[in-house]
Amino acid sequence: MSDFAQAGGYAVFRITSRQSPEGGVYLSAGIHGDEPAGTEALVRWAENNPGILRKLPCVIFPCLNPWGLVNNSRLDESARDLNRTFQHDHVPHIQALKAFIKPYRFTLALNLHEDYDGQGLYLYELERRTPFWGEELIEIARPLMPIEGRTMIDNRRASKAGLLRRKIDINKLSAIPEAVFLHLLHAERTFTFETPSEFALEERVRVQEVLIEECIQRTLKA
Ligand SMILES: [Zn+2]
Repeated sequence: MSDFAQAGGYAVFRITSRQSPEGGVYLSAGIHGDEPAGTEALVRWAENNPGILRKLPCVIFPCLNPWGLVNNSRLDESARDLNRTFQHDHVPHIQALKAFIKPYRFTLALNLHEDYDGQGLYLYELERRTPFWGEELIEIARPLMPIEGRTMIDNRRASKAGLLRRKIDINKLSAIPEAVFLHLLHAERTFTFETPSEFALEERVRVQEVLIEECIQRTLKA
């Protein structure tokens, strides 16, 4: 583990295991500081799985907006949404992250988020590799938490309850989120998990952890 940058007066940490630029996984949370379940789940999952970390090359960013986490803020200390800055190099620690992963091609990238409007779990699957995993991931989460019932989420229509599978059209994007950046340049499969941040923290952490575990097991088997 190393603190590879500073942001808002806090260290930003990166955890890497078995350095290899090909075929590992990228796990990231806390780019929105008011979405703590992802950070907690990622740290917990890593602590509980030293054996997997030894086997699988992992690059883990457990909290990309530490100032936001401390201050319960989606935005950083300069009121920036860091998840809309991947097209630029003006945020030093995002720029450092991009420089670090430049040689990497990941089999899997997971971006852990939460939604304060959320009424249950939902996820984004960026469309490329088949068979898709989204439907089965929803079923794995279902016993642990309600699945989001809204069919329109952030002005996008869910393809089925809880699942937003998207094809990326770069020309339609005004800003590049982390997941899209990874999908375009670095990752074969990219997911964003969204737990409802008004639900109990422990329940949200558990769901995130179970989904991380499922995706990692599928990656190990592939
Ligand atoms: Zn978010």
